[in-house]
Amino acid sequence: MTLNRRAFIGTGAAATAALSAPDVFAAGHGKPRVVVVGGGAGGATAARYIAKDSKGEIDVMLIEPTRMYYTCFFSNLYLGGFKEMGDLGHSYGGLAAGGVNVVHDWAVGVDRDARTVALAGGGSVPYDKLILSPGIDFVDGAVEGWDVAAQNAMPHAYKGGSQTELLKAQIMAMPEGGTFAMVAPPNPYRCPPGPYERVSMVAHYLKANNPTAKIIVADPKGKFSKQALFQEGWGDHYSGMIDWIGEEFGGGNVSVDPAAMTLTIDGEETKVDVCNVIPAMKAGRIAEMAGVTDGNWAPVNAIDMSSKADPDIYVLGDSAEQGDMPKSGFSANSQAKVCANAVRGALTGSSVFPARYSNTCWSLIDTDDGVKVGATYEATDEKIAQVDGFISETGESAELRKATYEESEGWYAGITADMFG
Ligand SMILES: Cc1cc2nc3c(=O)[nH]c(=O)nc-3n(C[C@H](O)[C@H](O)[C@H](O)COP(=O)(O)OP(=O)(O)OC[C@H]3O[C@@H](n4cnc5c(N)ncnc54)[C@H](O)[C@@H]3O)c2cc1C
Repeated sequence: MTLNRRAFIGTGAAATAALSAPDVFAAGHGKPRVVVVGGGAGGATAARYIAKDSKGEIDVMLIEPTRMYYTCFFSNLYLGGFKEMGDLGHSYGGLAAGGVNVVHDWAVGVDRDARTVALAGGGSVPYDKLILSPGIDFVDGAVEGWDVAAQNAMPHAYKGGSQTELLKAQIMAMPEGGTFAMVAPPNPYRCPPGPYERVSMVAHYLKANNPTAKIIVADPKGKFSKQALFQEGWGDHYSGMIDWIGEEFGGGNVSVDPAAMTLTIDGEETKVDVCNVIPAMKAGRIAEMAGVTDGNWAPVNAIDMSSKADPDIYVLGDSAEQGDMPKSGFSANSQAKVCANAVRGALTGSSVFPARYSNTCWSLIDTDDGVKVGATYEATDEKIAQVDGFISETGESAELRKATYEESEGWYAGITADMFG
């Protein structure tokens, strides 16, 4: 008799040599199967925790195309010259050593009836529970004149790695007294303070290397995260260098011409040397393909991050629409732990702790001038709801700001170890 895949899974037959990824998974001795799509902040944490805590009772497969994950967190510090690109890269060896079956491929489809995930490399993998943490994609046509074909001329640098390196190379190549422009995104988006920390870090670099250069920020928002802290810092450290044009002054009425390297704000065209376009965002495309988004983001239940569209699918991190938490690596890690605990409980009957979430976002404004904002959260029937919060204050001492920056370095080391082992 020839075994087709279904019969193979059903019999639990022993694995043979040269197995494909799906067959490796299918040979899992009838254990519950969790597939995680996306090996970033949310997905790596969830995969690692389920494998670690289930002690072999659950088969965990992580599908992630890249072999090194370059964090967006601290990527602005790379632009500022405080970190090297190598400091931001994390491999998947620790996850594999911890029992996660790491498959380097793209997930290209989800069949919710059959409970399978299709891979770009061919075949499909079955799941009992599917966790999606694919990060963000950009909304088509969000900035007039820009699409991904223009991302080399006008980088977004809002996904880690090569885009960030490109943006830095462009900043370093700016002519003396040149213009760096940023098109900031509308809410909600990945890392609310991210664009403004980036402005600070670009200004830090330019002040040392190209002090007559200018920075223009076109912003569709009327206000932004940690605004008072950033604007105080910009005045203290980079006086006269940064022109922030908010909603009130037409900052949302923007178009770009990547071939001519021009930016038009409210009808006024400016020739620029570097243009960092950060378009409006939505959930990573695979969440849309799985049919668990509302068109933009994937609504989830606050108690366990399960999708409101499908109880066997969970959505973590930036893709999720969960309530009050900002889209951050810290949030994704926090959500992943709640989800991992719930998934393990659902599949093995282990006890499930009540959902509690936390987040802190640090930003560096200049050397040793760190600020932070953070909160804790609880699950309500409606959403993940903020319980309490804190934020750095304007006028803080240099010692406190230095301590805040040092705290962020400790956080980075700790959280990347928690994600990648
Ligand atoms: C400039 C900047 C600064 C930031 N600073 C901070 C900070 O200081 N602190 C903080 O907490 N957060 C920060 N963030 C935010 C943080 O990077 C994100 O919120 C976090 O990475 C979200 O985690 P995620 O798991 O949702 O997505 P990601 O970490 O982006 O991971 C998504 C993964 O999914 C993979 N993927 C996508 N589609 C597929 C598919 N179809 N199949 C398989 N794999 C797929 C991708 O390759 C990627 O590895 C910053 C972001 C930026 C841009």
